[in-house]
Parts: sequence; structure tokens; C-alpha cells
Amino acid sequence: SDDLSMSVDALKDKLLGGLLASGFDEGSCLSRYQSVLYRKALQHKPSSHLLARLRKYEALHKQCGPNTELYNKTIDQLKSGNNIGSLDCNYVVWISFSGLGNRILSLASTFLYALLTQRVLLVDKGADMGDLFCEPFPDNSWLLPHDFPLNQFNEFNEKSPHSYGNMLKNKLISQNMNSGSAGLLPVYAYLHLAHNYDDYDKLFFCEQDQLLLQRIPWLILRSDNYFVPSLFLIPLFEEELSQLFPGKDTVFHHLGRYLFHPSNLVWGLITRFYQAYLANAKERIGIQIRVFDTRTGPFQYVLDQILACAWNERLLPNVTLEAVASTMSRRAKAVLITSLSSGYYENIRNMYWEYPTVSGEIVSVYQPSHEEYQQTEKQMHNVKAWAEMYLLSLTDLLVTSSWSTFGYVAQGLGGLKPWILYKPENQTAPDPPCCRAMSMEPCFHAPPFYDCKAKAGTDTGLLVPHVRHCEDMSWGLKLV
Ligand code: GDP
Repeated sequence: SDDLSMSVDALKDKLLGGLLASGFDEGSCLSRYQSVLYRKALQHKPSSHLLARLRKYEALHKQCGPNTELYNKTIDQLKSGNNIGSLDCNYVVWISFSGLGNRILSLASTFLYALLTQRVLLVDKGADMGDLFCEPFPDNSWLLPHDFPLNQFNEFNEKSPHSYGNMLKNKLISQNMNSGSAGLLPVYAYLHLAHNYDDYDKLFFCEQDQLLLQRIPWLILRSDNYFVPSLFLIPLFEEELSQLFPGKDTVFHHLGRYLFHPSNLVWGLITRFYQAYLANAKERIGIQIRVFDTRTGPFQYVLDQILACAWNERLLPNVTLEAVASTMSRRAKAVLITSLSSGYYENIRNMYWEYPTVSGEIVSVYQPSHEEYQQTEKQMHNVKAWAEMYLLSLTDLLVTSSWSTFGYVAQGLGGLKPWILYKPENQTAPDPPCCRAMSMEPCFHAPPFYDCKAKAGTDTGLLVPHVRHCEDMSWGLKLV
């Protein structure tokens, strides 16, 4: 019954190079230790420093997590409203917000922030975080208890008087409070790091502000972005980040694999689909189609663009009007398409049925679902979205759509440098249709452009070689 006993290599890699802690109950989260059976051999080893920091974090989470004695103590302090100075446990609470891809990226960013600042990460379960993911930390939950006193999370937005930016703007707090006046600091602050944040909120990314935030025990964070690239520009974190991630383009890859284990429900969808349609292929090609057009598709220009990319880059064989013999022994190339609509899939599948390929290769085409439109509030909808992101991460070659966090999650978990379909303008296929990504890292869509020292605007994509502008969004930042 235990597939894991089958291969020595699988056993060796079961903990993903030491990334995962051993000793979890396997049945309650099958994906945690079985994912290795579906993935290629480990290509990017996590650093020993990262492994040590994760184990240290797990110990902290055990000590300070929900319903521990220390947790209850800080909750009392939170209720009293007084910041009596440094406590044993400090927290960052992540608020569930936006589409699933955005959520996964902002949660990974928040976890890295927790690692860098010795805080404990707690997760607002939101609609369905508890149904989609296993618990990532041994011994204690990462979910925020229901009786958490500040549960009016809807009230935390850009206008909230408790936001760090607004408290600065209204001079309720200031950097002069840095030395020894903890009593004046609030016991919690809301960090508004969503795409519509303002210049005051963006001061989060300045070293001086980080020193101030260190003195606030509870931080509540809302973001729909992968804000990791800008953490790399804060001098305070520089040394630690370079030790944690000697390969700077592996941040989401490692943190994503550490944190996001599909629940048994989602894992069933992943493994059944994989075994039915992808397992026996010679090569698996993922194509993630996300069309940001308000009209309903499918659109011919999008289909043209996908095929131009797949053919130019030799990801798939072209078709021909000539007769070509295919041999029975040839294993197929399997194409996994994900899209809200079924039109592209039907076109591509029909094309490879109606015409032979120039190489004689057989191309089989599959799409797990077509949900038609985004329905973030529905559980089964998010289950499918998560299963599909994960399935894409199991492919050998990946094509993604510009601007889509859904694709970023797939590429990062898979350790894949995708071919990115450029964003079409005026309903025409761009030429060239796609480009190869510089790295497997996600793009930060809304970075600050501010030089904290000079107190002036600057292009933060030009400061260091490993933080650059993204291929698919000229003002975005990504690690390379
Ligand atoms: P983004 O909008 O592309 O950055 O990705 P998000 O994941 O944040 O939000 C898009 C949401 O739309 C997803 O979470 C899904 O709910 C839905 N969605 C978009 N594309 C697909 C798809 O190919 N398959 C499925 N099942 N859902 C999708």
C-alpha cells in the first residue's frame, strides 16, 4: 500500500532535500510526502541556512502558536490595547484576500517576512484556506483562532486609521519613537500592502520603518502581491537573505514547496488527473491561458498567439496537410491546458486530431475544467484552481500568460522557467508571441519606486543585479 517504499531515490528526496520536517502524520496530508513521486529529481537544493531557519521557525511556532500559554498572554495584551514593550512572541497575521494565485504569493511573502523578523505567522482562514492546504508546521496550527479579538478584517483597508501608513500620515507614530518610548506605540498595526497602497504604506519597505515596526508586537497584513523582491532591497535583511537564498531565484520555489501542500481533497484531483492523462506521456507541456479581456472568448488572436509560440519555440510539432505515418510505439506528447473557457482546448485538440504532425509525433490534449469565470467564493472552484496550478507545475515545459499569478505559482512550484505569452494589445497577437522567462520567480506587480535614504523617487529595478523589471510587466520587479 505504501508507494514510497518502492524507490530509494524517492525515499531520499521525500523530505525535499530536508526542506520538510519529518514526523507528520502521513494519512492526514498525503501530498506532503508523496509529491516527490510526481516530480522530477530535486534540481535546486535548499541552503543549510534555510533548513536551520525553518527548524528554528517551527520551534517558535510550537512555542507561540495558537492557544499556547505565550499566545494567550499576548492576546491579553492585545485586548488591553497597551504596548508594554517587547514580548516573547510577536506575530504577523495574514488576511485572506483576492484570487487564489495572489493569495499563495502574498502568503509566501508574508512567511518570508516572518522569518526575517522572528515573527509567528498566523493565517486568516478566509473562505476556504483550511480546505485547500494542509498545515505546514508540525505541532501547532497556522490558522488564526476564531476568537481572535481583531476579527473585523473587512474594516482593514487603505482608509483604516490603524494602518501603518495612516498612523504615519496622521503623526500618531513617528520614527522619533525609535528609542525607548514603547509605551507610545500601538500594540498592533495594519499593514496595507495591496496594489492600491499609497506612499505612506510603501514606507514599509524602508529600513527605518522596519526598525519601528519591530517594536509593535502584532502586525495584520493584507496584500495581493508577491512583495519579496522589495524585501531584498532593505539593507537590514540583506545579509540574512543572501544566506537563506544563495540562489536568489529560488525563493518562491523553496518557500512554496515548504508551505503549500494540497489537502487530501485537492490531492485526489491532482493524482487522478495526472495518472489518467499525463503519467505515460513522453513529454508534458503545460499551457496556462489567462485572458484579461472583458468580453467572452475564445479569441482567434489568442489561439494564433499560443500556436505561434509553441511552434516557434519548438515546444510542439506543427501540423501538415501531407500524409505522415505515425508508428504505434511512439508515446504521445501530452498537453495540459488550463483556461476558464474550453474554446482553445477544443481548437488545439481538434487540430491534432484532424491533421498529422510533421514529425509523426502524436499530441494528446487535455483540460481539467472550464469554469467560465472567476468565482473565488466557491469552494470547489478554488479546489479546481489549486489542483490545476499544481498540475501545471508537474509539466516538463510550461507556457504561461502575462500578468497571471496563477501561472507564477505553477512555474515556481515546478522550478520551471516558462515561456511567457506577451500581453496582447488591441486584440492582436503580439510579435514575437512569447519570450523565455529570466527566472522562475513571480513578478511583484506593484513595487515602490522610492529611495529611502535620498527620500526621493528612484527606479528600484536598477539598483542591484538580482532585482530586475519583469518580462511581462515593465514596472514590476522580480528576482533573477
Ligand atoms: P490571476 O488573476 O491570473 O493573477 O490568478 P488568481 O489565481 O489570483 O485569480 C484568478 C482566479 O480565476 C483563480 O484563482 C481561479 O479561481 C480562476 N481561474 C483563472 N484561470 C483559471 C483556470 O485556468 N482554471 C481554473 N480552474 N480557474 C481559473
